[in-house]
Amino acid sequence: MHSFDEARARLDAIPQLQVTCNEPLAAHVRFGFGGPARVFADTADEAAFLAALGVAHGSGLAWLVIGSGTNLIVSDKGFPGIVLRYRGARISRAGQTVRVEAGAALQSLVDFAVAEALQGIEVMTGIPGNVGAAVYGNAGAYGASISDRISSVRFHDGLAVREVDHAGCRFRYRDSIFKQRRLQGEPWLILSAELTFPNGDGAAMKAKADAILATRNAKFPPEMKCAGSIFKNLLLSELPEQARRAVPESVVKGGKVPAAWFLEQAGAKGLAMGGIRVTDYHSNTLYNAGGGTAAEFCGLVRTLKGRVLERFGLALSEEVQYIGFDPEELP
Ligand SMILES: Cc1cc2nc3c(=O)[nH]c(=O)nc-3n(C[C@H](O)[C@H](O)[C@H](O)COP(=O)(O)OP(=O)(O)OC[C@H]3O[C@@H](n4cnc5c(N)ncnc54)[C@H](O)[C@@H]3O)c2cc1C
Repeated sequence: MHSFDEARARLDAIPQLQVTCNEPLAAHVRFGFGGPARVFADTADEAAFLAALGVAHGSGLAWLVIGSGTNLIVSDKGFPGIVLRYRGARISRAGQTVRVEAGAALQSLVDFAVAEALQGIEVMTGIPGNVGAAVYGNAGAYGASISDRISSVRFHDGLAVREVDHAGCRFRYRDSIFKQRRLQGEPWLILSAELTFPNGDGAAMKAKADAILATRNAKFPPEMKCAGSIFKNLLLSELPEQARRAVPESVVKGGKVPAAWFLEQAGAKGLAMGGIRVTDYHSNTLYNAGGGTAAEFCGLVRTLKGRVLERFGLALSEEVQYIGFDPEELP
């Protein structure tokens, strides 16, 4: 067990680790609100990241690892512990296999694969965030997920660096062993991954990726302070009877019902609380129009969940992750 001052001193002694105190997390999350991290430690060097993880583990203090903060909702009070970020971003190819460090932008990996005419993730162009978080949450779009191409993942299990193969990652829709471990309070932190690709037609892949990126940028302009979709989509088979009866066949795709459909019926589009708004074109996208706070975000989410519950008997759950909140503050 360390005091903050001891933990800070140990982190300060690690070469190539940038350590700051009371770092405003609003600057590191795309929603652009949230209070400070008591200690923030950032590095692009794997050895420094591992050493910082060792300090965090042994400190007895609250700690967490973030990527580029596109899926995080930070409390206005901030996070009263240690926040670590790993920015190692090298990408290399050997035959059909690509090795990528967890801190690389997913977009850099997509661009690399397209440039090398390696097929399978070109449709994932425009998904914000880092490779580590993409593996953690099995990110995907347009019918493809990063898990489709993952052959192995190197990670730190709290004691040592290990590797798991594809089966060991236990990928499911937007889920993996890495997410499950964090939810159990014993996170496995991803250091790098290997992906295996078949060859493709580079020009056709580039044309497809460019078209998808243009569509995505129209829906989510890069400067928009948001987290993509707030609520998880739902499996038709798991809906309560009242909700299942209400859903028209035309909105069900691959057995899934978009949360946006329920939200739209409940009048979500254009609703606002302070600086946080629902877009007027997609009911499952909330954004910070300027000056929004975490409290306003939670208030708006509470209103939306309440409306859907009342109208359809359906409890929506969030895809985003809350950081630094007391349980009673959550919507
Ligand atoms: C405009 C917009 C559109 C989006 N569209 C999509 C989409 O189409 N498909 C999709 O799947 N997602 C989408 N998202 C959600 C988001 O892009 C993904 O969740 C992304 O993978 C998050 O990456 P990040 O680096 O920002 O992670 P963060 O938000 O910083 O963190 C997310 C989680 O990953 C964990 N994590 C980060 N790094 C590591 C690591 N090295 N090891 C273990 N755990 C780690 C964190 O602890 C945290 O729990 C969208 C988001 C936005 C803003």
